[in-house]
Amino acid sequence: MILLYHMVFPDATPSDTWNAGLVLRFKDFKRQIKWLKRFYHIVSLDEYVNHFQTVGKPKARLAALTFDDCYSRTFQLVSPFLNDNEIPATFFANTLHLEQNSLLWFVYFNALCFEKVYPELSIEGNRYPLSTQKECRYAWQKLINIARSNKDAREFSLNFSQDYPLPPEIITKYQGLSKEQLSQIGASHILSLGGHTHSHPYLDQISITRQLVEISYNKELLEVFSARPVDHFAYTGGVYNTDSIAAVKSAGFKSGFAIQPRQLSNDKLFEIPRTDIYGASLLKFLAKTYGIVHV
Ligand SMILES: [Zn+2]
Repeated sequence: MILLYHMVFPDATPSDTWNAGLVLRFKDFKRQIKWLKRFYHIVSLDEYVNHFQTVGKPKARLAALTFDDCYSRTFQLVSPFLNDNEIPATFFANTLHLEQNSLLWFVYFNALCFEKVYPELSIEGNRYPLSTQKECRYAWQKLINIARSNKDAREFSLNFSQDYPLPPEIITKYQGLSKEQLSQIGASHILSLGGHTHSHPYLDQISITRQLVEISYNKELLEVFSARPVDHFAYTGGVYNTDSIAAVKSAGFKSGFAIQPRQLSNDKLFEIPRTDIYGASLLKFLAKTYGIVHV
């Protein structure tokens, strides 16, 4: 079983700060890992993939930890805990922010809707107030739906940010891994990096040529700043097509990670499933892992 985490917040963060399904406070994260360690052997992604390659399926009681998108603040919070307890983890990181001081397109929408910077948004000529959590979520869903149906989610987000820019402190709060952090991971024997595209597009929305650029350029930057080979890749949003698999292979990755495999390839190494953990509830966490471990 491979667990997929996104954002981990400091314990003092109110649970409704960002209700886009990605809030997990540090104490809840630690509680889940503590439970996991009781029943699973947590190994590096390399070791997990080696096993998967040999046996062709996940081994019961073998687990690996992964983080997608990789917020700098999340890394700051979890890396001392992972290092101190010698818990291996892989960070699937984007690289756009290393070249321009902007957020990934969906992170921008998340922050815009839940950080209360504006009292309301005008979306396609309609007013969307942002007072209650329900309203924030409604506006957020609308923006994500438009981005998903748009040919270019990033362009839509860039255009939108012309009218609704975010203050620098909010951008910093949701920024990706810094060059120093990438180099720190490169030097670690516990932590490792994985590819996750340069700007986090929906891969099935763009041509194979653009997919290849997004995937290869991200790999190149991660390898430069970590001074280590980056062998594993995670499909953004778990979305991919046969072109994506071809692009990931052609960029030189040894494996590709999905959430729900679409079974588009005979090569199972490029559609390895992961279990997404979006909430703090230990009960849900147990339910997600119950299929393998019977307690
Ligand atoms: Zn992602």
